[in-house]
Amino acid sequence: MFEEALKLINKITDNGFKAYIVGGFVRDYLLGLESNDIDVTTNATPKELMDIFKDSVEPKTDYGSLTVIYHGIRFEITTFRKDIGYVNNRRPDRVEYIDSLYDDLIRRDFTVNSLCIDNNGEVVDLLSARGDLDNKIIRCIGDPVTRFSEDALRILRAIRFATILNFDLDKNTIKGIKECKGLLKNISYYRKKEELDKIFTSKNVSRGIDLLLKYGLDKELEIDNLNKVKETNSLIGIWSVLNVSSKYPFTKSEKELIKNINIVLDKNNLDPGTLYKYGLYVNSVAGEMKGIDITKITESYNNLIIKNRKELDIDSKTIIEVINKKAGPYINDIFNDLENLVLYRRIKNNREELIKHIKNKYGGANEE
Ligand code: ATP
Ligand code: MG
Repeated sequence: MFEEALKLINKITDNGFKAYIVGGFVRDYLLGLESNDIDVTTNATPKELMDIFKDSVEPKTDYGSLTVIYHGIRFEITTFRKDIGYVNNRRPDRVEYIDSLYDDLIRRDFTVNSLCIDNNGEVVDLLSARGDLDNKIIRCIGDPVTRFSEDALRILRAIRFATILNFDLDKNTIKGIKECKGLLKNISYYRKKEELDKIFTSKNVSRGIDLLLKYGLDKELEIDNLNKVKETNSLIGIWSVLNVSSKYPFTKSEKELIKNINIVLDKNNLDPGTLYKYGLYVNSVAGEMKGIDITKITESYNNLIIKNRKELDIDSKTIIEVINKKAGPYINDIFNDLENLVLYRRIKNNREELIKHIKNKYGGANEE
């Protein structure tokens, strides 16, 4: 990836512009971590970049930044810029293209995100960030209160980087977070969820949760029960416990899952009826949140006599024949009854036994 990135920035510098790898890739590269995409900063404008990369440019341009797929790798190329007039504590009103790398770097969020690599592969450290990277510190560039007031999402980005990288937050940055946390209410739930998703899917999630609780960000984020979240690999499990579905954006199927997980959180996850109705996944997620051994849940699920209605040794056609009545809602009632009896081992899942039960209880047609 590094070689391709160097090729890309050399392609820009060969056209007479300045270009540097910046941000997450440099930070992670120096920490020996993998990155998914690469941020590049340059004094070439998006228009000039489109001429250089022609076919490989993705159509959408956004705030003077351009996505280029080059040698199969995704590059976010941003023109050196100054942010002017922040609105609603989030995103600048407009950006002005500039020619100075230094001025572009000081508008960025944290020192560790300001490190660059030039077209020779050399690290460029204009803001003396290397010390913070080596000492594992997340520190705002400039005055934290100013920077968090410009864009309150940076508060969550700080927590996210401290979580994922297992870094400490600088003292002054912490002061800024405490002072500005009220501004999080101005940030869209979509943006907040994006950052929280990254925190909650981190292997180091417990540290992220500790930090959110420690600085009282849970209240500002309108999140309940954060202290009840158990270590888990399930993002949807965490969101279910947090009880926020009406404010934060979830898809229809996520909402359905959250609803079911919440129902099952109040039930016994080893109960055959609960396992049968809500399935292994929902029960495992809820069980994990309650600290129940997942192998026990899986075992109980695997021991269910039937996993779905089709596994009953009788079909609706047979039920209709036995009852000798036109099809109707009664069929579903009988199925429910049979499922329960079989799941709790009151009768065997055997065609003759099931028919016998139907005849006894519902008065079936006489045998011919
Ligand atoms: P990752 O890609 O691993 O999530 P990143 O640091 O690359 O982390 P991006 O969101 O890709 O984060 O942003 C790229 C760079 O742009 C950052 O490293 C930072 O320098 C700058 N940046 C991003 N968001 C902000 C922001 N809200 N305020 C100031 N600078 C920002
Ligand atoms: Mg990035």
